[in-house]
Amino acid sequence: MSITENIVDANQYIINDEPYYEPVDQEIALYESAYAVRMPMMIKGPTGCGKSRFVEYMAWKLGKPLITVACNEDMTASDLVGRFLLDKDGTKWQDGPLTTAARIGAICYLDEIVEARQDTTVVIHPLTDHRRSLPLDKKGELIQAHPDFQLVISYNPGYQSLMKDLKQSTKQRFGGMDFDYPKEKIEVSIVAKESGVDVETAEKLVQIAHRARNLKGHGLDEGISTRLLVYSGQLIAKGVSPLAACSMTMVTPLTDDPDMRDTLNAAVETFF
Ligand code: ADP
Repeated sequence: MSITENIVDANQYIINDEPYYEPVDQEIALYESAYAVRMPMMIKGPTGCGKSRFVEYMAWKLGKPLITVACNEDMTASDLVGRFLLDKDGTKWQDGPLTTAARIGAICYLDEIVEARQDTTVVIHPLTDHRRSLPLDKKGELIQAHPDFQLVISYNPGYQSLMKDLKQSTKQRFGGMDFDYPKEKIEVSIVAKESGVDVETAEKLVQIAHRARNLKGHGLDEGISTRLLVYSGQLIAKGVSPLAACSMTMVTPLTDDPDMRDTLNAAVETFF
């Protein structure tokens, strides 16, 4: 059996170009302080409100590599930590993304952590306390995390249920930051800048979103995200009629309920 170490080039995970990020509050300074003490961070907020963009921006600002993992319920601990693979030369250990991040000193961003099963989530425990270590049980190796390593998780409180939540023993290893859709003026700037539409159109899109967000819990599970507003603006900037663009991005993806669609379409028609 040949065990070949996989050597990873940390540079591939460095973000070279400044991601566009519009600060919404004190989050940049707070995150910098949390990073300075390598505090594991939990970023909470609805889908598409800027959590991932913020983490990308912070990784760029701090000049650290970023490794992102989209969590899902089929994910196993081995998907995070690594596994032995068989190839023509024998057996080869392949580090998982969490292990790579701990070795090279990356920020490891576990997106939508609640999607992962609890037996998967517990592998992060030794990395998130004073030990800052990761046991690779199958390989018989104990990794000491690189001094630059930090773990960040995101989670959407809207999807919280008894079935899908983090255990207290996991939660209480993180500092938390609440995110929400940006305030009106900031969201208008984001939509205009990201999509290329004029400010007046961006304002209308944000107004529609505000109406729809009021319907959360009254027929809609989740409000229209900033991401969808950007999509809408991108279509409009490409010459698609605003009504069609809004229908494609702000109505159809959100709900299949005919009454709710009528309500949303009516909101769109008020502005366009
Ligand atoms: P999520 O909260 O699901 O991780 P993202 O970070 O992917 O959401 O944000 C979705 C989109 O919204 C981004 O691609 C970006 O266009 C836009 N966005 C949201 N908030 C901001 C912000 N503060 N600055 C710049 N872009 C933002």
